[in-house]
Amino acid sequence: STPSERYEYQAEVSRLMDLIVNSLYSNKEVFLRELISNASDALDKLRFLGVTEPELLKDAVDFDIRIQADKDNGVITITDTGIGMTRQELVDCLGTIAQSGTAKFLKALKDNKDAGGDNNLIGQFGVGFYSAFLVSDKVTVSTKSPKSDKQYVWEGEANASSYTIREETDPEKLIPRGTRLTLHLKRDDKGFAHPERIEKLVKNYSQFVSFPIYTWQEKGYTKEVEVDEDPAEAKKDEEDGKTEKKKTKTVVERYWDWELINETQPIWLRNPKEVTKEDYNEFYKKTFNEYLDPLASSHFTTEGEVEFRSILYVPAFAPTGKDDIINPKTKNIRLYVKRVFISDDFDGELFPRYLSFVKGVVDSNDLPLNVSREILQESRVVRIMRKRLVRKAFDMILGISMSDNREDYEKFWENFGKHLKLGCIEDCENHKRIAPLLRFFSSQSEEELISLDEYVENMKPDQKDIYYIAADSVNSAKNTPFMERLAEKDLEVLFLVDPIDEVAIQNLKSYKEKNFVDISKEDLDLGDKNEEREKEMKQEFGQTCDWIKKHLGDKVASVQISNRLSSSPCVLVSGKFGWSANMERLMKAQSM
Ligand code: ADP
Ligand code: MG
Repeated sequence: STPSERYEYQAEVSRLMDLIVNSLYSNKEVFLRELISNASDALDKLRFLGVTEPELLKDAVDFDIRIQADKDNGVITITDTGIGMTRQELVDCLGTIAQSGTAKFLKALKDNKDAGGDNNLIGQFGVGFYSAFLVSDKVTVSTKSPKSDKQYVWEGEANASSYTIREETDPEKLIPRGTRLTLHLKRDDKGFAHPERIEKLVKNYSQFVSFPIYTWQEKGYTKEVEVDEDPAEAKKDEEDGKTEKKKTKTVVERYWDWELINETQPIWLRNPKEVTKEDYNEFYKKTFNEYLDPLASSHFTTEGEVEFRSILYVPAFAPTGKDDIINPKTKNIRLYVKRVFISDDFDGELFPRYLSFVKGVVDSNDLPLNVSREILQESRVVRIMRKRLVRKAFDMILGISMSDNREDYEKFWENFGKHLKLGCIEDCENHKRIAPLLRFFSSQSEEELISLDEYVENMKPDQKDIYYIAADSVNSAKNTPFMERLAEKDLEVLFLVDPIDEVAIQNLKSYKEKNFVDISKEDLDLGDKNEEREKEMKQEFGQTCDWIKKHLGDKVASVQISNRLSSSPCVLVSGKFGWSANMERLMKAQSM
């Protein structure tokens, strides 16, 4: 056999391994989920690459995952027929950290500690390959990539700072393709090496894996076997002249065989009537590594021009970090073509960036399997899909807003309200869908957010416009002098207190044919002009205005008599085409 070579782990790997072992000791069983998920990823990769490189599939073996538990020796083997690893990939993948799941884990660990949270949550995150050491003293990875003609064996031990790689030479151990992991369990963890235990964990953690998972199980069948008669009795029968009648008894014949233990029909292909809300939620949590149920889900099939199936979800929380709103590369949408996973790496192709928080799976029969980024961007099919997906997403959000449970929408708004406001600015085509979902405080609802529909319902019979004022808080909005006349007339005014609100509203321009009107702009017309009285006032105060203008000079554009105030003597207003005071404040803040 060829000698094995020893390699040091990258420093971060050793640290990560310590972390995993220390923080997940009470949740060790996640190791199986992680290793199965890697096997499933490896099968996905091969199936995907096989479309354009059929020579990778020259070994005609099924795509599956097989788990064998040897309870006498405390050994578990997990074998997949996926893409495998070359020697270099072994070093790159299992000796260094570059992986997404692990990064998320580290962050969760930190957030969780900061929040004083419990360790159980962490079990929900992808922690990756090294979780094998939660239960193993020694892990062996024997792997054969279809790109290489050799099979390699990676071997590592718990608490070690190095690992070895050698070539597999034992002909008994050669596999046609894929990866076989052998876990030599720690003394206290040998209990995992029971087929029933494995089966239970798979059902619990990996029920949505779309490749068959088999376990090696002892089975039995019953059969009738002839039993030899007691010789004395046989003799007696003979003497009695009885015809010989063979006696039989039932025995159980034992044998071992592979048993399929998961349902491989993807959930989105099932009939929605047969899928429960719990199933959808479980699928969501398993697929997206989430620990909270989604706020809403929607399972649909579209037919006609373009055919696809999809399940979409609205998460319960927005990811933390302020970049997320403008980062559409969220891996939130998993695209399949004819059940083959294609990609989750999108950049606005399937959802506009302001809806990039929507998660889900999309499975199309109308795209080529070897679909590339360029095809995605130019495809008519994708454009139609996008339209439908966006519409469904809005339906789903509208559904939350109309549910009896007002809290759900409050939660949605708190997390994703900003996204919808961004939508007002970026997606004119969908204004009609976005506008009913917006929420604001108002002069008549300072504590509870209202919708534009609620505003419209509350309008005075002769009121034509929707009034708003932008300010930095509800308190300053309600105390501006601009409010005086409107309050006197009992007209409701929307308080736009989020910096983005004003731009969003200006983009909408109107709602249900009612224009949005900024009450701080100079030409505010409350429909109560009294020309007679205005003339009188002009005569009386015209000179005063001229005098004030002379003293203020360039600081103001003009000084005018107004009927807008009832108790304050004067107010500064913005010109009709100028920035509002709020905008000016924003511009200033941004240029600093
Ligand atoms: P992640 O799955 O998030 O990438 P892991 O720590 O689970 O992180 O795995 C690290 C890498 O090791 C994977 O990205 C993959 O390249 C490789 N790998 C792990 N298990 C397998 C496997 N069964 N077959 C092929 N490659 C694997
Ligand atoms: Mg993984």
